[in-house]
Formats: sequence, structure tokens, C-alpha cells
Amino acid sequence: MPRDPRYDILFEPIKIGPVIAKNRFYQVPHCNGMGHVRPRAHAAMRGVKAQGGWGVVSTEEVEIHPTSDLSPYIEGRLWDEHDVPALALTTEAIHQYGALAAIELVHAGMNAPNLYSREASMAPSPIVNPASYAPAQARGMTLRDIRDYRRWHRAAALHARRAGFDIIYVYAGHSLSLAMHFLQSRHNHRTDQYGGSLKNRARLLRELIEDTKEAVGATCAVAVRFAVDELRGSDGISADSEGREIVEMLAELPDLWDVNVSDWANDSKTSRFAAEGYQEDFVRFVKKVTTKPVVGVGRFTSPDTMVSQIRRGVLDLIGAARPSIADPFLPNKIDSGDIDDIRECIGCNICVSGDYTMTPIRCTQNPTMGEEWRKGWHPEAIPERTGNDSFLIVGAGPAGLECARLLGRRGYAVHVAEARELLGGRVTREALLPGLGAWARVRDYRLNQLNKLPNVEIFRASHVTADQVLEFGATRVVLATGATWRHDGVGRTHTRPIPGFDSSNSVFTPDDLMDGLQPSGPVIVFDDDHYYLGAILAERLHAAGLAVTLVTPADRLSAWTVNTLEQHAIQKRVMDFGIEIVTSQNIVEYDGRRAVLHCTYTERISELPAASIVTVTSRHPNADLAASLDGMGDSVRNAGIISVDSIGDCYAPSTIAAAVYTGHRHAREFDWPQSDVAGFRRELPSTMAGDAPQEFKR
Ligand code: ADP
Ligand code: SF4
Repeated sequence: MPRDPRYDILFEPIKIGPVIAKNRFYQVPHCNGMGHVRPRAHAAMRGVKAQGGWGVVSTEEVEIHPTSDLSPYIEGRLWDEHDVPALALTTEAIHQYGALAAIELVHAGMNAPNLYSREASMAPSPIVNPASYAPAQARGMTLRDIRDYRRWHRAAALHARRAGFDIIYVYAGHSLSLAMHFLQSRHNHRTDQYGGSLKNRARLLRELIEDTKEAVGATCAVAVRFAVDELRGSDGISADSEGREIVEMLAELPDLWDVNVSDWANDSKTSRFAAEGYQEDFVRFVKKVTTKPVVGVGRFTSPDTMVSQIRRGVLDLIGAARPSIADPFLPNKIDSGDIDDIRECIGCNICVSGDYTMTPIRCTQNPTMGEEWRKGWHPEAIPERTGNDSFLIVGAGPAGLECARLLGRRGYAVHVAEARELLGGRVTREALLPGLGAWARVRDYRLNQLNKLPNVEIFRASHVTADQVLEFGATRVVLATGATWRHDGVGRTHTRPIPGFDSSNSVFTPDDLMDGLQPSGPVIVFDDDHYYLGAILAERLHAAGLAVTLVTPADRLSAWTVNTLEQHAIQKRVMDFGIEIVTSQNIVEYDGRRAVLHCTYTERISELPAASIVTVTSRHPNADLAASLDGMGDSVRNAGIISVDSIGDCYAPSTIAAAVYTGHRHAREFDWPQSDVAGFRRELPSTMAGDAPQEFKR
């Protein structure tokens, strides 16, 4: 299909200093849990983005010096020339497809724990890093330190150019870099030429831009990533005061402004807390005060929104981290007129959890993300079928749908049977909960793709029994029957049922609520799951007018959502509703009227009245069908069935991302021979050594 002419503007080349981006699609820096530890995986992932049509593809933050050591987090590293070859893998992969390669140089200052290098952290003034719980403080930088830092940054820029980068960043964003810490009056208490007035606090940023331009500016563009607003009022940088003044002060100095809000949790808000384009109000002033190109983000997935941003003069380049993760081929799909093939980001921030858990990035929508090198998976290119198998997939949740999509694309005959009238499994049910509407994209993308495949047939309202599986006539059976929330309270804390839970009609599970049952108040939501559901159900019950108390054995609400940058926002939201939160407490008994609580530290006992309890603890895999087929032995083989496999939550209950991943994996690997080694390539430790210590000089 030809490109819709309305979108032509997105494909105009844009001059950025001495280089030219072939279009306006700009993959801004984003973390990925691969970085310097897994350079081949990193290069392949960025290369796929370039192949997918992004005009600029950036690295994540790249440490420039041992005093900016972010270990145990895995980011990029450019401490000296030894790091150049690994980064060159990335620029080669990006250049292969005509995209520009950008590198985000960072000195993390007080945010660098330096646990590997064992250097002291540095800051404008001797202060404690608010994000660190370590018993260590940052040291205030002397003028000599500032000179050293500028020299390190300059050297890193030169090394970056040698590695092949076209755009070199000076990073003053997310409250994660020295350049930004100097700007912030709450962190910069200096009284010399680098402190006090805004002009003084901006001196270092100005010098870094000038240094970088002087070092590499003839051939590389120099970009500034700057957080124009910290969303903390007069305590921080804000777009209507210092944020604007800083851009005005330095307006024409860099070749590109990459602007957003800070901190990372504000910049990468989930769809539960912000809609597409949510940063516009903060960044729209920037283009009015500079003639240089401006890039910004806002979880852009709609080409109409992108065009509108450009036509209305908000942005010149459409920045994207998450939309490029969910669909690395987003630009090419717009270019070829295949808009409805775009795998839209759902704004769940599972991708962020890779960085937070120091493991390779993963994505709910795009199961190939992070697997480009180690498994050789590509988001669009899929191997053709290798035989004449026909498939029966039981269950049309995220696992079943993804498996069907991929097997269908491979050319197999696929039949999907779903017990419910509505397809989508847990995604369809959960997307009806407050704030989770965008999650339905997991279903919608797949159903849309399946509708285009004549070799895939879907049967709704078709509950499948073991006998029916045998009669069906498929050679391969895939069970994707999901999981059911437990009623008995067994979960992380309780390995045995909670007395009173199973026998009570007043105990409800999340499935009960999603099926439309309504508890009576006062109600306790017992959250031993620690992800999103406990808080969301509490919100829904509160909206229904019930008095709600949230009880959790954790010391904060929805504790795991730290990894999706949501914990603070979730707890604030629940508190703003007036829902009482009881932390570090465990329910040990319930009699239909009151719950007995144990303190998780002291085992002190208390009681809470509750007409009902909603228990969010763990899930039972729906494995009955698998067990029945397993017990049928030869009858299965005699029915011509070669394999029966379980995927998704019925195999092991987990995230939606994991369900999609296992569905995808099964469709690619179902006919692989059994093996006892890891099913992916690993990056083994290099035997190359860096300089000996005596060669290390400041
Ligand atoms: P997953 O996350 O693993 O994809 P879900 O719970 O989202 O799991 O989806 C499982 C789907 O399987 C549900 O829609 C459920 O209705 C369906 N299902 C479960 N058992 C059967 C069965 N025996 N026959 C047909 N569909 C089933
Ligand atoms: Fe978007 Fe979720 Fe994928 Fe991240 S993990 S890119 S937020 S769909």
C-alpha cells in the first residue's frame, strides 16, 4: 500500500548540525539491561530499530568515567579507548540501514554508586544522593574536579566519534547527571562561579556543550538532553521559570534539543497515569525560543498525533523509546501504509523492569525485544513452516493468540478454541479495570493480524475437553488455558490456606470481581501479589462506594511496581482516594466478620472488621486439560497427536509479557530437539584485559 500523503511530513530529512537525519523518527536514548555487558545483543537490538526505519537510533546512558560507575545497573560504558570496539558494533549495526547513531554520554555524579570502581561519588556540593540508601555521601567537587570532569567528557566525545557516532549528547536530564545536578538549586549549594545564580549554575552545562562542539562539532552533531520540568514546583526546574530560562540562555548553542520532563518516572509514565502526548504542555515553549531542531517524547504511536505535533510547531522530530521497543518497524509501517500492523505500546513499563532487574530488556507487546542477537529473533521476519503440522490451540489469551499469530504467519493450519465468547483471556478482563484500557492492544493487535490469515480459524464459546482434543485431528496441541486466582490465600506469605478463607462466602478473588460479583463493605483487599491488581481492585471497590482497607505483608503498596516506575504513583493515588493502607501486616484468620492480622515483624496481633475480603495472592494454573491428556497415554498418540504442550499462565502463571513470550517461543521452537544447554547464544567473558593499574592516571 502506498504511504498516506498526510504522513509525508514525517519522512522529511532534518538537518542536525553537520549531519542529516533521513526522517523525523528519532529513537531517543533508552536503557535495556544489555549495555556494556552484552554489546552484541545491544548492537543487534539497535540495528533492528534502524532497519525498521528510525532516522536516528540512540544508545542508553553511557558512563564516561570510573567515577560514574552505575554498577550493578547495566548501562553503556565509555571509560577509555578499550570500550570503543564494543560501541562500534552498535554504530555499524545502525549505519547499515542509513540511520544516524547517537550516544548519550553521562557522568551520573551522585547517582553513580561506584560499587565496582570504588571511587567516591561526586556532586556539586557534599550531599546525600536522595535515590541512594547506601551509607555513603557524594563529595562536593572542587574546581579541579570540574576541570577533570570536562576533560573526561571531552575525551569520551572523541572516543565516541572514533566509535562512529554521529550525534553526541550532553545529558542534563532525569536528575541523573552532574550537568543537571549543577542546574538544580536544591543540589547545588556552591558559592563560586558554578553556584548561586542560574547563569552560574548553567555554566557547567554551557562549558560541556562548548567543549563537545570544539572537540567533535565539525563532523558530529551535539545534542542536549534537558529536563525542562521536574514536576516539583518551585523546588525544582520548571518549564515556566528556570527550565525556560535555561533553554533561552543556551538556545542556539547545541545542534539539537531533546527535551522532556524529569525524573524517569515522570518521563516514562505508564498509560495508567498519562495519555499519549502528555508532555506537550511542558515542552511546547522550546521551539519558540530556539531555531535548532527539537525532539520530544510522549509514547507516540499514532501517526496522526505525530503529524499534529509537527504541524502545530511543538516538535521537529518524533522521539520514542517505548513505541520503538514495542514496534521497531513503526516508521516503515507508516511509510508502507500498513498503519494497522503497528504493534502499539500499551504503556505498561515491563521494558523498564529489565533495567531495574539488570537483565536484558523485555516487552509485553514485542516478544522479540532483547532476543535479536541471542535467539536471532526478528520482529517481522519469521521462518517459514518446516512441515505439514496442524495445530489446535486451546485458549485465546495473550499466550494462545501470540502462538496462533506466529504459527499462522509461518504458514501452518491453526485452529484456536476459546471457552468464552470474548477473546483475549485475562487481557480482555483486566483491560476493563480502571486505567488499564490500553492493555487491550495486546489482544487487538493479535486479532487484527489473525484476521488477515486465512489458515487460522477461531472458535469462540468452545470449551474443549480432552476427548474433543483427541477427536479434533490436529497433529500438535497447544494448551493456553491460563490460570485462576486462588481463593484460599496461598501466596508468597502463606504456603498453606488461611483459616476461614476457603469456607467463607465473603471471600472473593480478582476473577470473582471481574466476573461481576460485588462484595459488601467494609472490605479488605489482601494484597500478597505486590503487582498492580490489588491496588486497582481497591480503587474499583472504592469507586463503588465501599469502605476499603488495603492490607499487605510488604512494607509498601504494590511493591514490585518499583520496577515499572509506578510504585510512588500507585500509592499516592490510593492514598488520595482515602483508602486506608495497612503495610507489614498479614491476615492469618477470617471468620466472615473480622480478620485477624499479624505484624510481619513482631507477630503482634490485631483485628479488623470486614464484611468481605478480596484476596489477591497467587494463581492456580488451569492444568486440568493437560493432566487429562497426560493420563490418556497411547490414546493421544493413536489420535495422531505428536505433541501436547502448555504455554503461558497454565504452564507457569506470570506477567502478560511472559505469556506472550512463551506463545511466541513455542511457535518458533516447537520442533526443536530437546537440549540441556541454554536455548540462546551467550556473550562470554572476554579474555582481553584493560590497562594495568599503574597506567591508570587521572
Ligand atoms: P494466558 O495469559 O496464558 O494467555 P489467559 O488466562 O489470559 O492465559 O487465557 C486463557 C484462556 O483460555 C481464557 O480465555 C480461558 O477462557 C481459555 N480456556 C481455559 N480453559 C479452556 C478450555 N478447556 N477450552 C477452551 N478455552 C479454555
Ligand atoms: Fe510499551 Fe510495555 Fe512494551 Fe514497554 S513493555 S514498550 S511499555 S508495551
